[in-house]
Amino acid sequence: MIIIENITMSEFKKHLHRTKTIVFPFGTVEEHGSHLPLNTDTLIIYEALKMVKKKVFLAPPVHYGVCTTTKHHPGTINITPGTLRSLSRDMVVDSYKKGLRNFLLISGHGGSQHMAALKEISEELIEELKGIRIAAFSPYDLLWKELSELADTENDSHAGEIETSMILYLAKDLVKGRAKEEYPKIPKPFVQKDYTKYWKGGVWGDPQKASFKKGEKAIKTIVDKISDIIKEIDKK
Ligand SMILES: [Zn+2]
Repeated sequence: MIIIENITMSEFKKHLHRTKTIVFPFGTVEEHGSHLPLNTDTLIIYEALKMVKKKVFLAPPVHYGVCTTTKHHPGTINITPGTLRSLSRDMVVDSYKKGLRNFLLISGHGGSQHMAALKEISEELIEELKGIRIAAFSPYDLLWKELSELADTENDSHAGEIETSMILYLAKDLVKGRAKEEYPKIPKPFVQKDYTKYWKGGVWGDPQKASFKKGEKAIKTIVDKISDIIKEIDKK
């Protein structure tokens, strides 16, 4: 990957002759239980993307995202869908002006409002910008089945077995013990003023079953999938 934050203007220009593809990583500042860093989503996606062996541009990550059921927990710093739409639109439009034509908006956070904002903006941009290819996705949407199979927990999700395993693999010093198995008990279909009442620990799954090995497999699965997608979009 061509890591944009490390290259110069002249290097950017040189690489542009070979590729018109840019990847924008999206994360969150969001609670991930009592044991994982607030940066978990950003860390996973940016580190996985850096492992992809393709010569396309990799932009610095957007560290803030749209959180819903975790927005009241300590440490979550939330932005609204409108902010995310404006920001991602500006990023794509301006890189289009710099000559880029293929855009991948890849999110380490799979929240429904967050993903909807990225998908909505992609649908608008494909109408507005001539000759572009664009995709907005989270690896958790595309690889739900594969990643679930790696987990011993039946219903694993936020800050659970797989996410904890991936942080163990990528940055084990940032894992502070293991939170207990927990699942949110939010009474559906109601919107809540305070979600923490129904989800104290902010964990969905069983972090106790996490391991370095499962994390390594999960990251490899994500890296392989993203490599295939980049290969597809970067075709001349
Ligand atoms: Zn997460």
